[in-house]
Amino acid sequence: MIVKRQITTMCPMNCTPTQCGMTVEVEDNRLVSLKGDQNNPDSRGFLCIRGRASQEIFANPKRLLHPLRRVGERGENRWEPCSWDDAYTMIVDAIKQTQPERVGLWRGHGGSTTGVGSNLISRFGSTGGYQQWISAIVCWAMGGYGLGLTGALKTSTKYDMAANSRTILLWGATLASQPDLAPHLIEARKHGAYIVHIDTRRSEASRHADEVLLLQPGSDAALALAMAHVILQEGLHDQAFIEQQTLGFEQFADHVQQYTPEWASEITGIDAERIRDLTRRYATQTPAMIVLGGSSMFKHQHGWEPARAISCLPALIGQYGVAGGGLGQRHGASPESSGYANVLSDITEQLPRGAAIPSHMTAISEAFSAGRIDVLFLLGSNILSSFSDANEIERGLAKMKLIVAYDLFMNESARRSADLVLPATAWLEDIGLKQTGTHIYLMERALTPEGECRTLSTILRDLAERLDLANFFPWQDDEAYINALLATQKTETGEPLTVAELRKRGGYWQKNGLAHVAYRKGNFQTPSRKIEFWSERAHQAGLSPLPSYTAPQGEAYPLRFCQGRTLTAFHSFFDEGQALPTLAKANTEPLLWIHPRDAQKRNIANGAAIVIANERGQFEAKAHVTDDVVQGVVWMRDGWSGINRVTSSSQIIPLVANDIVPGIPGGQATYDAWVEVQQMQ
Ligand code: SF4
Repeated sequence: MIVKRQITTMCPMNCTPTQCGMTVEVEDNRLVSLKGDQNNPDSRGFLCIRGRASQEIFANPKRLLHPLRRVGERGENRWEPCSWDDAYTMIVDAIKQTQPERVGLWRGHGGSTTGVGSNLISRFGSTGGYQQWISAIVCWAMGGYGLGLTGALKTSTKYDMAANSRTILLWGATLASQPDLAPHLIEARKHGAYIVHIDTRRSEASRHADEVLLLQPGSDAALALAMAHVILQEGLHDQAFIEQQTLGFEQFADHVQQYTPEWASEITGIDAERIRDLTRRYATQTPAMIVLGGSSMFKHQHGWEPARAISCLPALIGQYGVAGGGLGQRHGASPESSGYANVLSDITEQLPRGAAIPSHMTAISEAFSAGRIDVLFLLGSNILSSFSDANEIERGLAKMKLIVAYDLFMNESARRSADLVLPATAWLEDIGLKQTGTHIYLMERALTPEGECRTLSTILRDLAERLDLANFFPWQDDEAYINALLATQKTETGEPLTVAELRKRGGYWQKNGLAHVAYRKGNFQTPSRKIEFWSERAHQAGLSPLPSYTAPQGEAYPLRFCQGRTLTAFHSFFDEGQALPTLAKANTEPLLWIHPRDAQKRNIANGAAIVIANERGQFEAKAHVTDDVVQGVVWMRDGWSGINRVTSSSQIIPLVANDIVPGIPGGQATYDAWVEVQQMQ
């Protein structure tokens, strides 16, 4: 008799800290249904279109089911099936024929759809002595870097925001990446909270706001400095907090005297009086929380400055450590709590420090171009989509001897550059864990893998065995590895949490030591353990020690190109969404948002076929003429092929300052692009 089973799991995407619960039904090793898990305390039954579409991974004719070996030249996109043994032999031979430091591991979101892949990749890289990089440098690292210099990396929870905030600034935050915030914003408004959305375009977040302020991209630091100016000029600051919890206030107060609202108005495009009104509301209608964007607002030439300047504002008005104040939920950040155990502590790094290519996009791109990598693993990543200056990256890839892609579907990088493509398991075919700000959730294995797909753990273990990498996987099986990750979480009896125990509790676990309000006791993440208006670390590394705004350099092209998220896509996942029918229907072609006046100047009508070009390259799209974006700026959803052929890979932070914030490299490239847009001839 065939039995239908119901399993509780999590969405495979990593919107982090948003992670949504799923309930799936399987029958005869087939997924029968998938819906939101009503009992999940974080997502409360919600699944966005991306989460719902993930059921289309299974029995999908486009899915990779067997290892594929390239035939013909790279980029011809001609493949033949090969056995796993042959695939392993190709990889092992290529690694043995070069030096370990010429082997690189680049991981994307697809490498951790079950939430536990990243540590395995790190162990594989460290025991092998291979190059590996922190993938946050294509995403949230620059925001973290700026916040880290001030010392405010921890966030308060969405529950605290909903219950206690009177003013909420959604500053560059998008609900496309954090839809779970929406019900909590609604709740906050019911309690009387006033919400301001600050961004370069109107987005889903604007619908939850009482007021929307559109500003020029890259001008957020100028707005924050002007707000600091108004706070101090009007005596709205919290002297007691400043004296007890901060460092460098006098220098900061002198410094911000120059940054008047009139000065910021010229830069941001926001009227000076509105800046004053915003500041007065923020400083007096407290508790006031800032919910900061995760990634897009930091993608520019001086991308570390906005988070650095903005994070000084709660300190000026004494809002850190206050319920409903401080900084709210942010991609790449978490509240105070214990998370996973460090499962890398027993490893001795085999790559000599001097041989390591740092987590710094410009340095990585240069190393590729200089032919310093012979073997590259692309683990759940479409590097030609995620890295800036994709043309230069592609030239670097062409110099490598073996490129191995591991994914569910083909993608642009695999088609154009890979030699070997390994079929990945989907989340329901593996066991895993996901953590939100507040909880840890078990992801049970529900299906046996389709075709010859293998889990990342299986592949890395098989390769480690063939490469004699002792101590790569010291656990008996995947469940034992997950138990090791859970070891820091203690149950009521003091015993460590285990998979078996999680199962007994329905797969949900509230993290130990969870604080809904961050920094109740201060202890900020700086050398002084105080909020650092003046950062000696920045000073020593040649950066401005005080929060700053630097104007962009003039460019030869008239329109500033920006990219970001929408609810209907997850970067370039699933072959730019085109492999899943639901997402393909919602994303028929790249659309470029352009302001009506900019479109009119170029005789571009809504829906017209256009070319976006600059000195680095070009790509094609359709025009979406809208005043939801500010004049002089064009915007597009990220992940489309070609977008990063026009963006710059020049550095934001010099190498000497790359590692001054522990655990958060400053190695994001600028992603800047000034472009011209024309009707297609
Ligand atoms: S927001 Fe959507 S894609 Fe992200 S975790 Fe939730 S369901 Fe998945």
